[in-house]
Amino acid sequence: MIPFNKPYLAGVELDYIADAIKKGKLSGDGYYTKKCSEYFEQRYGFKKVLLTTSCTDALEMAAILLDIKPGDEVISPSYTFVSTVNAFVLRGANIRFVDSAEEHPNIDYQEIENNITSKTKAIIVVHYAGVACDMDKITAISKKHNIPLVEDAAQAVDSFYKGKPLGSFGALSAFSFHETKNIISGEGGMLVINDENLIARAEVIREKGTNRASFFRGEVNKYGWVDIGSSFLPSELNAAYLYGQLENLDDIQARRKEIWQRYESNLKTLQQQGKIELPVLFDYATNNAHMFYIICNSVEDRSGLIEELKKRGIYSVFHYLSLHKSDYFLQNNDLIDLPNSDKFQDTLLRLPMFYELTLEQVDYICESIAACFA
Ligand SMILES: *Cc1c(COP(=O)(O)O)cnc(C)c1O
Repeated sequence: MIPFNKPYLAGVELDYIADAIKKGKLSGDGYYTKKCSEYFEQRYGFKKVLLTTSCTDALEMAAILLDIKPGDEVISPSYTFVSTVNAFVLRGANIRFVDSAEEHPNIDYQEIENNITSKTKAIIVVHYAGVACDMDKITAISKKHNIPLVEDAAQAVDSFYKGKPLGSFGALSAFSFHETKNIISGEGGMLVINDENLIARAEVIREKGTNRASFFRGEVNKYGWVDIGSSFLPSELNAAYLYGQLENLDDIQARRKEIWQRYESNLKTLQQQGKIELPVLFDYATNNAHMFYIICNSVEDRSGLIEELKKRGIYSVFHYLSLHKSDYFLQNNDLIDLPNSDKFQDTLLRLPMFYELTLEQVDYICESIAACFA
């Protein structure tokens, strides 16, 4: 049996967890939390990093930080995870869903401006499969209209746009360390704050609306309730696991890229025969090998493939359902037509991708796909 995902353990995570327990502080913002945030700030030049309990929580912090209020509008792709927009809906926002590009699940930047109104308070982009959106174009739109940009960089760790790390473009950016991502901590995430003006308030929101962080730095002599917030900080146990992963980041990324390239070269023939499409990469974007997907010619092709692969012990999975067609959204909104999002909903298929997947297994998966089309 080849699962779709298997959480990776480098080994050193267990030592760090034991050490965190020995240090006698299990709640958040201890030694390992600090090590992790410093790692990201130094390696990628992020202005400020706050570890969170999930990417979902980082996005919820972003919505609070941007003062999203009932009636405000937020622009987002429809082909994304629920959390991308739910975080903003929790604050009362209405979502303006934008289609994916034709050749890639990323947002079609050319459609963003058509959706900007006087009520637009944020533009959210998702770097699907860790491949950058066209950030020059999107940053220009955000600047021109003076609307803050949020990157849902959940899948985009260690990925770049024209040499600049993803997560460094938005006023705020959210990453995930969920066990299905490249770098993991079980459940976990981080908020990257690139707009300096938002840093102090972010610390408060993350600590239940208190100024506890500045108290511990000795900036105030008692801490109290100064804003709204929640408990968005992860335990040291999670941070310890994460730090073990970060020490192995280069190895993890190299291995995933090797697997990715094997898939691509094995499946080239099927692409040339017009049976499937392979992921498009852009000149401006790196590939962090978060995901290997294929695009089938029809939903029937895809269902057949999933079934056939399952018979051969291989677990492949489709991905998002267009959010503009979700039951929840349609309760309060009219149906709109976003054909590219629907196309990816129906035809995109993700293949097993995890550190321990062997190249022999990749070959077997690709042979099995070819057999399905024979
Ligand atoms: C995984 C993912 C999330 C959610 O991350 P969590 O850490 O599980 O909350 C949000 N957006 C995208 C695009 C994701 O891939």
